[in-house]
Amino acid sequence: MMGHSHALSGVVGWMAIVPLVQGTEFWGVRFDLGPGEIIAGSLVCAGAALIPDLDHKSSTITQTYGFVTRALSALLNWMFGGHRNGTHSLLFALLMGALTQVLALWSPLAVQIFVFLLIGIAMNGLGFGMDKNRTAAEIINALGTAGITLALYTSGTDYSWIGLAVAFGCLLHFAGDMATEMGVPLLWPVSKYRVGQNIGFKTDGKIERNVVTPMLTIAIILLSVYLFPWREILPEA
Ligand SMILES: [Zn+2]
Repeated sequence: MMGHSHALSGVVGWMAIVPLVQGTEFWGVRFDLGPGEIIAGSLVCAGAALIPDLDHKSSTITQTYGFVTRALSALLNWMFGGHRNGTHSLLFALLMGALTQVLALWSPLAVQIFVFLLIGIAMNGLGFGMDKNRTAAEIINALGTAGITLALYTSGTDYSWIGLAVAFGCLLHFAGDMATEMGVPLLWPVSKYRVGQNIGFKTDGKIERNVVTPMLTIAIILLSVYLFPWREILPEA
């Protein structure tokens, strides 16, 4: 799947799971998600849904932060055995989630920086910063990302769920890739079997462009209407 479809699936995935996990506890994380956590989670999940493609040198995420993400891409490609290999496994999702959670426990500041970077990646994936006028688009992306991160920070957004959101974002990425013809080696390195190979639609083909992307967009609109307490947010008519 293309970067923007993965990013959209991250937003939809988080929004869709909010009503299911709200008020519950999972692995010691209590889900008490307000509007801030819904927005933050959507963007974190969207960014995380691009992480597995760090193994490819021309993917959206690899292009996001210049030589930093390009170096990271080269490293991950080498560590995990090339494109659509180890970074597309359950082990990788678990690893990313655990690393993020450790980061969150270690330093609240590190989490803010990580969230900022992930939102920047998400915005890039969603289409901000990739236009013809690159410099202007990148500045708008950076400003928007900083604004969102700051707004979430000042509204006291709680990030205790961030490791789970990152792992979930990776899983959504695998689901997206399994829906295309390439398949995903979920059980790497134990098994190289590619789940979903040769079934599904073509990457960036007619179905992805004319069906998947619009459906994901509509899902975001419907879920927003459903999830946010609009009556409390909007002034009374
Ligand atoms: Zn992929």
